[in-house]
Amino acid sequence: MSVDVGEIARFDEQAHSWWDLQGPARALHDLNPERLAFIREHATLAAAEVLDLGCGGGILAESLARAGAKVTAIDLAVEQIEVGRLHALESGLQIDYQVLPAHDLAVARPASYDLIACMEMLEHVPDPEAILADCRRLLKPGGKLFLSTLNRHPKSFALAIVGAEYLLRLLPKGTHRYSMFLRPSELARGLRAQGFQLKLLQGLQYNPFSRRAWRNDDVSVNFLAYAELL
Ligand code: SAH
Repeated sequence: MSVDVGEIARFDEQAHSWWDLQGPARALHDLNPERLAFIREHATLAAAEVLDLGCGGGILAESLARAGAKVTAIDLAVEQIEVGRLHALESGLQIDYQVLPAHDLAVARPASYDLIACMEMLEHVPDPEAILADCRRLLKPGGKLFLSTLNRHPKSFALAIVGAEYLLRLLPKGTHRYSMFLRPSELARGLRAQGFQLKLLQGLQYNPFSRRAWRNDDVSVNFLAYAELL
């Protein structure tokens, strides 16, 4: 099981303000429509069995459920899952939230999901490939995996850490560690090793002043990946 308990504790502390549009998850709220659009361009969500892995308080999980998916959402931060459950109740959405390691779910429910979304999470785990291995076990044959993470590129250090944490105070200090960022080539290698075919990489850009997000082919900071299980 690949987990950094310090990271989980940090996310638990932020849970109470997760749905605050000015709070610590503010950038996730702003990025979310583009992430959802990326998924919808390559997958049908209506009636699909979907897993949101490392769901936090459910920003993406709720939009997946709204699009008609049957969503299971897991995280190890207990407070985040609690916030997710309460918010889904308020939103009138049915989402199966569980505090559960991906590995345990993979043992209990192998080959169960049409689609897995694992966004802004791999840069918080010590062994991302172990998570990809769990995804492989959890997906049905031909299942689709959608990822987003931060590239270990100097521009990313400047924008996502110095800019976002220290200058603009968009994110709490210590949210990200540069050494845990993943280069697209490393992600591609990990995916290949786990039997995935990488279909598409796209850069995800963000202007914190206008709070606008958009996609293009610059993967030097935040990027999205779509892969299929062979
Ligand atoms: N995916 C959500 C939340 C991103 S924040 C979104 O993009 O909106 C990162 C989340 O990953 C946190 O909620 C944190 O608790 C969770 N996380 C970190 N390590 C994890 C692990 N090993 N297993 C499951 N969740 C994990």
